[in-house]
Amino acid sequence: MGFDVEEKTSLIAQWIKDHDRIVIFTGAGVSTESGIPDFRSPGGIWERFDPNEFLFDNFLGSEKVREKYWQFHSEIYYTILKAKPNAAHHACSKLDRLGKLDCVITQNIDNLHHNAGLPREKVIELHGNALRVTCLTCKKEYDRKAIQQRVEGGEGDLRCDDCKGLLKPATIAFGQPMPFKEMHEAETRSSSAEVFLAIGSSLVVYPAAYMPVYAKQGGAKLAIINLAPTPYDHQADVVVQEKAGVAMEMILESVKKRM
Ligand SMILES: [Zn+2]
Repeated sequence: MGFDVEEKTSLIAQWIKDHDRIVIFTGAGVSTESGIPDFRSPGGIWERFDPNEFLFDNFLGSEKVREKYWQFHSEIYYTILKAKPNAAHHACSKLDRLGKLDCVITQNIDNLHHNAGLPREKVIELHGNALRVTCLTCKKEYDRKAIQQRVEGGEGDLRCDDCKGLLKPATIAFGQPMPFKEMHEAETRSSSAEVFLAIGSSLVVYPAAYMPVYAKQGGAKLAIINLAPTPYDHQADVVVQEKAGVAMEMILESVKKRM
């Protein structure tokens, strides 16, 4: 491919102009551009906490693990609270306001798509959301802020007000089943997409990484925007090796010129 970034983003903009069902899949690279480290990568927080200790079954089975898990998750919570949406998040919201966005499917847990103004029903979160807490038994949802105050007040084994079930940050822990409804919805939307943009994802965390494959099988135009190569580059119609924020801003400007 001899195209430069400008030509490639213009081509993607033309696809967006010509179609309505645009699905955008966002991965850790979109969060790192907002200063949030990739929590699933080695290093950082995992040098102080052992992922094996936090397997979902251990959380369910041990009060001690739950106490430690809340401490671990407090660090994630405060990192996320400091972060602000970047150009890639804003571009997704602007495409929605132009009537072009079917949905965003994200591997990120940081609520930044919502903070950038996307309505909750337009964001499918495959790995959950760290700013929410749910009861594992009755699924009642709690605001993280209020729960965090209880954690800081010394509570380590938090229980549901209604059913006394275990409370847990609404993210998917290692060994925890993927959320069925979100997975199903993401598969359906990917399969029926006309244009599918995978941005800031190395496409190696499964089953999330299958989404571009579903899109391609469904006949979508597939663009992969990521700084590093991915295992699906050979299936893409266009590969843009660029930061998500830079590429999405270029695409949005080019879309606007065509509208
Ligand atoms: Zn409950």
